[in-house]
Amino acid sequence: MPGFKKTFLSGVSLKNVPFYIRYGVPVLLTLVATLTKITLADYIGYKTPFLLYLGIVIITAKRFGAKPAIVVSLLSAVIVNLLFMHPPDYFPITREAILQTIGFLLECTLVIGLSSALTDAVSQIDENDARFKTLVEKSSEGIVTMNVDGKIIYSSPSVQNIIGYTDEEFIHLPTWQLLHEDEASKVREQFFRFASHPNKTLTIIHRMKHKNGNWIWIESKMTNLLDERPINAVIANFTEVTERVLNEKLKEDFIGIASHELKTPLTSLKAYTQVLQHRFKNSEDETSLNIINKIEHQVTRVVQMITNLLDVTTLQEKKLNLHIRDIDLNLLVTEIADAIQQTTKVHRIILQLAPLPTIPADRERLAQVISNMISNAIKYSPNADAVQVSTRIENDRVIFSVLDHGIGISPSELNQVFERFFRADGAKKSFQGLGLGLFICAQILEQHGGEIGATSKEGEGSTFWFSLPLA
Ligand code: ADP
Repeated sequence: MPGFKKTFLSGVSLKNVPFYIRYGVPVLLTLVATLTKITLADYIGYKTPFLLYLGIVIITAKRFGAKPAIVVSLLSAVIVNLLFMHPPDYFPITREAILQTIGFLLECTLVIGLSSALTDAVSQIDENDARFKTLVEKSSEGIVTMNVDGKIIYSSPSVQNIIGYTDEEFIHLPTWQLLHEDEASKVREQFFRFASHPNKTLTIIHRMKHKNGNWIWIESKMTNLLDERPINAVIANFTEVTERVLNEKLKEDFIGIASHELKTPLTSLKAYTQVLQHRFKNSEDETSLNIINKIEHQVTRVVQMITNLLDVTTLQEKKLNLHIRDIDLNLLVTEIADAIQQTTKVHRIILQLAPLPTIPADRERLAQVISNMISNAIKYSPNADAVQVSTRIENDRVIFSVLDHGIGISPSELNQVFERFFRADGAKKSFQGLGLGLFICAQILEQHGGEIGATSKEGEGSTFWFSLPLA
């Protein structure tokens, strides 16, 4: 960083200056000053006899340390008393001479004290600087600072271990040139949006071209300190995560293929179970009907999980294929609430629906969101007897919300519930699930130009909501 060089040069290391220079130069200066004063004695007289010597003490203390400065102070006191207090042929020890000498020695003590405190402080700063510099340089992460345009201002030497270029080479490369064309514009856009928000952080995973020509995956964690002096830059730490990304991709491919292959036989199984259910409905054999109902319930659950897994893999690669039509949201909510009401005897689903115009949306996908939110409200409130479902209009948007009096979510976990595979600690222990439903809901809402959110109090309950534009 630019600061390093400056502080390094300003620090003076006395350890490397030989003894004869440390003492010789100050003594020589004192003798030169004495000769000058003798030569000019007729012009400058005998006033302020210590002035020139005090200057030499200050320089000596700063450049050569405390001990040579003490020697110069004592030497100067003797010389001044012998030669410059009075004309040389006249040598009384007066009170005034003693006071002046004491005054001079006190000034010298002060100067030497201050100077050595300053030297100590500077060497402490140098030491901290050196430690910090080593940390940055030897870090396994690449560390760069960038200006508001994304131009690299500083690069740690450790970048070479990651992308092959030396820090000098890296600084002079156009920043965006190394990005993969599939991600370049998205990364740029994210960077500029982020750069206009001081103190924000941003983590992105993207590809970069290594000096050897291979593409590697990089995770960049950036902090916007453009408004913070003395940094005034974006700081980015980056590490190579190629192996992790490829493993994740392998895992996702596997989940995608497995769910795809499982879906067809499971759907047939569900259809056959429903046929059996139908046949046994009016028979006397209640035990068999009970078993078939349980099989149907479990198969439905597995089909739902497989559908969620397939949705996630689809979302990973491309956008959902939405079929937007004008829909009656209240009607959809009522249908879904009625269907879910059939599955629970514990909870009453209370509807509070405000009159709404039709809204443009994909009916199936929105049904998936509504169903997921109401089912979650019931699932995560086993000791409550009601959940409240409402719709209303606010600022040109339709708002749908579900309120429950269940286990709630802690503040630290609340903003993670829309992440892939996230399950709160309280949920993991006692409730089954994959942690995918809300992630899919968030993606569906995003692709509708809507928003999704939740408020919650641990132990008291939660409200999950989404909003959609009216037009
Ligand atoms: P799943 O329910 O399968 O775990 P979701 O994506 O639907 O997956 O939910 C993610 C997590 O959010 C849940 O595991 C749970 O911790 C939390 N959550 C969702 N809805 C509620 C709710 N109504 N009350 C409390 N926690 C909830």
